[in-house]
Amino acid sequence: MTAAADGPQRTDARGARRSASASAVLRAILDDGPIARSTVARRTGLSAAAVTGHTAELVQRGLLRELPEAEPRRSVGRPHVPVDLDTGRHVAGALHLAVHHATVALLDLRGNVLVQHEEPHDGLAAEDLLARAAEILDDLLLGHAPDREPLGLGVATGGWVDRESGTVVEHPLLGWKNVPMRDLLAESTGLAVEVDGHARALVHAERLFGHPKARESVVQLFAGNVVDAAFATGATVHHGPRSAAGAVAHLPVDDSAEPCRCGRTGCLEATVSEATLARKAGLPFPDLLALAAAGETAAVRMFHDRARLIGQAAALLLDVLNPAVLVVVDRSVAQVPGCLPAIRDEVRERSRGCADPVETVVPTSFPGTELATAGGAVLLEVLYDDPLGPLLAGLSHAS
Ligand SMILES: [Zn+2]
Repeated sequence: MTAAADGPQRTDARGARRSASASAVLRAILDDGPIARSTVARRTGLSAAAVTGHTAELVQRGLLRELPEAEPRRSVGRPHVPVDLDTGRHVAGALHLAVHHATVALLDLRGNVLVQHEEPHDGLAAEDLLARAAEILDDLLLGHAPDREPLGLGVATGGWVDRESGTVVEHPLLGWKNVPMRDLLAESTGLAVEVDGHARALVHAERLFGHPKARESVVQLFAGNVVDAAFATGATVHHGPRSAAGAVAHLPVDDSAEPCRCGRTGCLEATVSEATLARKAGLPFPDLLALAAAGETAAVRMFHDRARLIGQAAALLLDVLNPAVLVVVDRSVAQVPGCLPAIRDEVRERSRGCADPVETVVPTSFPGTELATAGGAVLLEVLYDDPLGPLLAGLSHAS
């Protein structure tokens, strides 16, 4: 490096360091708040002065609040006033687009879902669907968070989503191609909008608010109508060029002759998708799931067979990527007894690298709110990554 001492590069480097320390402070308080500043300093390895500076800035931005001291102290010196997230000040908008319905929701800074609304959208064109979602978000904000400031909107969907350009490159099951989702929603909501593929969104959610081991390394395997996966190691969620990573839909599985839209047979998504199960059972998927949850033998068997197939994909992903945890997001895992054990059994039989399937293969940390949490996490990840960044800059938070 040459000595371009006061050039923009040096300013950028200083800014990046400042953002990284503020991020570490905010994450420490997310994990352990309310917490004393001195403890934050110990956890993050930052100096007491740096922590004091960052917490003051984050309080000013409305992300943190100071709590009254729990017990009055008799000793002299600075009181250990704890700080915590200010979950009452802001709200994160969330949108998840599934094949047949949209989930619109509001989350607080801890990732708690304050309210969620499910809207069927069969037959709506992309523009109409996104406009409808913006209306619902507006209603939720008015009805459930009139006194809070919206931070923005996080959007997650299946298919191939390019986060950088904010575009749904391709979502065959929705029939979308090159839909500029971020720009359309930013225009209709007037909010900052962040978009990502939903498996990566769920990885963000687990890393921020979910399984503690997800921060070491995590694979997310999603099985709904869409089947896809995502991988993160350390703080890095793998995207690959144009964010195309995680497309496991056409992974071949054993013992399946199910025709796939790609022209082959026996692909994972075609075999285990909710639509395929519903067709085989001759019932709408929610009805089939309810039967299985109630213990109806034939329905339960269908889900257990499907769980073994999901287990095949899980075993392969575990051997290729060797994550600390593999999180399965699937409605039957939460609702039908025996599905998770069936997935683990298959992993036990097939994986060469996974020593302990019970410890390693886990259900989502957000049963019942996983879709809303995925959407919200797309936005909250950006906030936690750079709490001094542009997300809050446009808000009238200063008081
Ligand atoms: Zn296929």
